[in-house]
Amino acid sequence: MARILVLGAGLCGLSTALLLARDGHEVTVVERDPAEPPTGAQPWEAWQRPGVNQFRLPHLMLPRWRAEMDRELPEVLRVLEAAGGLRTNLLAMLPPRGPWRDGDERFETVTARRPVLESALAAVAADTAGITVHRGVAVTGLLTDPATRTPVPHVTGVLAEGGRLLRADLVVDCCGRRSALASWLQAIGARRPAEERADCGFVYFARHFRTRTGALPEGRTNLLQRHESMSILTLPADNGTWSVALVTSSRDRSMRALREPARWDAALAVYPDAAHWRDGETISGVEVIAGIEDRYRGFVADGRPVATGVVAVGDSWACTNPSLGRGATIGLLHAIGLRDVLRTTDPDDHDKLARRFHEWTSTAVQPLHRNTLWYDRHRLAELDADAAGLPYQTDDPKWAFSLAMFAAARTHPDVARAHLTLGSLLADIDEVLAEPGLAARITELGTHAPNHPLAGPSRRELLAAIGGSP
Ligand SMILES: Cc1cc2nc3c(=O)[nH]c(=O)nc-3n(C[C@H](O)[C@H](O)[C@H](O)COP(=O)(O)OP(=O)(O)OC[C@H]3O[C@@H](n4cnc5c(N)ncnc54)[C@H](O)[C@@H]3O)c2cc1C
Repeated sequence: MARILVLGAGLCGLSTALLLARDGHEVTVVERDPAEPPTGAQPWEAWQRPGVNQFRLPHLMLPRWRAEMDRELPEVLRVLEAAGGLRTNLLAMLPPRGPWRDGDERFETVTARRPVLESALAAVAADTAGITVHRGVAVTGLLTDPATRTPVPHVTGVLAEGGRLLRADLVVDCCGRRSALASWLQAIGARRPAEERADCGFVYFARHFRTRTGALPEGRTNLLQRHESMSILTLPADNGTWSVALVTSSRDRSMRALREPARWDAALAVYPDAAHWRDGETISGVEVIAGIEDRYRGFVADGRPVATGVVAVGDSWACTNPSLGRGATIGLLHAIGLRDVLRTTDPDDHDKLARRFHEWTSTAVQPLHRNTLWYDRHRLAELDADAAGLPYQTDDPKWAFSLAMFAAARTHPDVARAHLTLGSLLADIDEVLAEPGLAARITELGTHAPNHPLAGPSRRELLAAIGGSP
């Protein structure tokens, strides 16, 4: 068993710590933000977490996250539900679902606002033997042992603010989107990881609400609605709350008006399947987030690890535009993968551990990241075409099929389940299309459907509603 240092106590850092401590490793978590999770008071109001930009932005946990949590860390779900986390079945929100079928329970999830989610994970971590969490400790670099010569730099711990040295057999970087791991590696003489990065190009205008009646808004269609010039996310959450995010291209200047609450309200009001999500008490202003990066880092470059003794999990490894709500699920799968690799690889075999984790990451979770980028690139190009008043054209037959599936999911219960299976990360497209006749049904029902099958305004009507110029 190893002494493991996890950097960052966000969603993936805490999940990684829990999984590794359950296997008998001695885990220390260091987190830059000093504030402890509030006890008693609602974490939504009381917890300050400047280290996580998206702390008060909408989050939904996918059914796959719930399924993995049920299997691996069920007490997190119990604590989350006790704190008001919402257990709900996403299929119940879709109109064409037909009678309930065996297996539909796979679409169940447990979800909450981000501060509530994170405080549930933190509470379980605080009660778990083998985990120590130190908050208010900012890591500033990596440590190596100058006396030991290795083919690539071998990390033996980290340096924290105030000159503190923390030693470990393995350092797991979970510092999120803004992780400085690539610079820290360079500072110890390692090569930079193979890195791909770009602004994802989307901007989010989000608000949170609380029920006045005790009931959540009725789900009338997909939680992610695709319209001309705009996507809308309607996300149920804990304790009778929910959030709505209007998502546009950051190049679409006319949409910047949405940062004003009155114009935000006016925009939502013109979408018949989303307007009723405004019927509640507002518990936030319009939170705006832009400049979100798509980033991937490969820690084995040209066939060799860039360093040993350190791995990256969750957003520190790869992150994307969050519209598909996959970050926490992919991060959890990544953390489970690290736990599994450590079950079969001696942490003292440094080179083997680095290679095996890289191979596992490339095969098991990188395809999810690539697929998310594929969707986002098409969707952004489509939004940019809308703003330019042009139809979006692409030679990619997969995009046309994906639009056909979105449309057909509105009318056929089998396609609705297939579409939700993909969106929930419960299976990939090949597994879903293995169902006899499904691909043909999607083509038949969806190919000639309107480009935007959900009821909603044209761009011109939307701009008129918010008082923007074309
Ligand atoms: C707008 C938005 C909406 C999203 N919505 C969803 C959603 O609906 N569903 C979903 O699954 N995912 C969503 N995500 C993604 C999700 O938030 C991330 O995937 C998830 O937080 C990643 O967890 P993490 O632990 O890797 O990083 P984080 O949660 O970002 O945690 C990183 C931690 O590291 C700490 N840290 C950073 N630097 C240091 C340092 N030098 N020393 C010590 N500590 C440090 C930070 O303070 C922070 O606590 C969303 C993201 C955004 C931007």
